[in-house]
Amino acid sequence: MDELKFADKYLQPYKIKGSEINPVSCPYCHGGRHRDKYTFFLNLDKHTFVCHRGSCGASGKFSELAKLYGERADYVLDIYKQKFDSLDREKIYKKPSIKLNKLSKQAEDYLRLRKISLSTATHFDLRSDSKGNIIFPYYNQDNEHVLNKIRIPRKFVKGKDKTKIWQEGGGEPVLFNMNRVDIEQPILLTEGEFDCLSAYESGYKNVVSIPFGTENMEWVNDCWEWLDKCKEFILWFDSDRAGKRAVEKVAKKLGIDRCKKVEANRKDANLVLYKDGSEKVLEYINNAKYFPIDNLFKMSDIKQKDVDRILYGDRFLDYFLGGCRGGELVVWTGKRGGGKSTFLNQTLVDTIEQKTKCFIYSGELSNSKVKQWLDRQIVGERYIVKYKDPLTGREEYGVHPEIEKIINAWYRDYLYCYGEDGSNDVETLIEIMTYGYKRYDIKRFIIDNLKTLKTNKKEDYFRQQGFIVNRLKSFAKRYDIHIDLVAHPKKTNNKLVEDEDVGGVSDIIDLADNVIAIARITEDMADSAKEKEKEKFMDNDTVIIIRKNREYGDTDMKNFYKFNPISKRMYTKNGTKTYSWERNVKDRNVVLDTNVEEKEDECPF
Ligand SMILES: [Zn+2]
Repeated sequence: MDELKFADKYLQPYKIKGSEINPVSCPYCHGGRHRDKYTFFLNLDKHTFVCHRGSCGASGKFSELAKLYGERADYVLDIYKQKFDSLDREKIYKKPSIKLNKLSKQAEDYLRLRKISLSTATHFDLRSDSKGNIIFPYYNQDNEHVLNKIRIPRKFVKGKDKTKIWQEGGGEPVLFNMNRVDIEQPILLTEGEFDCLSAYESGYKNVVSIPFGTENMEWVNDCWEWLDKCKEFILWFDSDRAGKRAVEKVAKKLGIDRCKKVEANRKDANLVLYKDGSEKVLEYINNAKYFPIDNLFKMSDIKQKDVDRILYGDRFLDYFLGGCRGGELVVWTGKRGGGKSTFLNQTLVDTIEQKTKCFIYSGELSNSKVKQWLDRQIVGERYIVKYKDPLTGREEYGVHPEIEKIINAWYRDYLYCYGEDGSNDVETLIEIMTYGYKRYDIKRFIIDNLKTLKTNKKEDYFRQQGFIVNRLKSFAKRYDIHIDLVAHPKKTNNKLVEDEDVGGVSDIIDLADNVIAIARITEDMADSAKEKEKEKFMDNDTVIIIRKNREYGDTDMKNFYKFNPISKRMYTKNGTKTYSWERNVKDRNVVLDTNVEEKEDECPF
């Protein structure tokens, strides 16, 4: 809620003086005994308030005032979003440099074959390269030429042709034709350039195409502000599986309430133009429907869902749980110090290795501490150096500075975190996560941990925890993303954690798709283990047990891990892992030099 909406709801009647809202009565002192009027000012630019009545003197931030009424101040969210965006480094793109020639004869013939006229080709500024291929020049909203896509000017023949369509490397992922459309009118969004040309050819001129096919969503981030200003979209992607999946996904990112979709009986818009003609193309576009928001469906209409899957990178969990699945919430439980965070962060390394974006909320540790540990898990013992704290003489471990640069570059685009002074209110967290999903295509979220989150409900602690898990679960389902949630058990005894212990609430277990317990192995545990497991308990440091398994139903399976205190990695007898960043290490001997004290430049004077 912003200040004006707030004033309308809670501070009536009021006047506006410059950039200040000035109600008759102060919401804190109500003017005191003398019913003093107009003493309270709420500043729209600074987001602060003050009461000038001497014995009141209430002052503070709008967020505090809003909280008092159970509302949340919008500007707080804007600040978090800005911080979140600043994590996203400014990308540097290469300007296109291929020489643009007039359309080749072959290209013209090929366009004509696909029912695209020369005047349409001219409108889109289609060109050819020196080999006669078709060039689709892409312009950003400021009309700057930022990307070229190139296509062979004939039917693609498998085996004979290497590629059908490609891009000039390093270009900016904008939408094809975005420079020529009217954002006030419904914009048709297609999967490829030919569909875009086909719609235009048929008479629907407000049309753009995504740049790199359905798997690549970078354009959402790149064009975010522009997309935000558009009034309505009509999505027309290919009618194959990938296209249908992408339509759902794109609609969620752009906002389901401003998206319609076209459902055609042929593969794509160009084929409709080719086979049925331009009227049919227009008919399909005009009959586009909003996404159903009705909650009553016919069971037969429900489509078998493709679930987005990422692997945990741990054979045991991936085998029994089917990896990190989209739409699922997994609860990780276990005593403090049992290794929940350590294990989860280790699986993050594998998510990054799969080039999937993830997010971590760490309610207890600072982001720099999380990074310090994570970096050690990424590099493994081989690249960790020991150094002496010059002040205390204590020996510490750290990643070799040269290696740190390499791994930072390796994971820069894949791991996001929540601001430190971030609110621990679950609604704010979910808004930021939604933004992260929509704009940056983040697919996996680690929430560490449940206890540090709050709601603004005045209910008891346990009900609140149940409510929070419920909110997180609906978020996961709605956007088909994966959440790993750390929850501490209520009771702390030395036994392996039981279901009922999680946060003290059975709701949490009911809501979770999977529940995983992690415990550090104690002597007691080893002593009381069954005979056939005894040895494993004796030989290892940590045990993981699957307590609930919604997809496959297998429960109570155990797996054992050793812990390396230097690398912070947990490992099984399968040994230690290497990741792709290591290919960027030029001089592997760099690690032999453990003297990492800063070298001073040689100085001749
Ligand atoms: Zn007052």
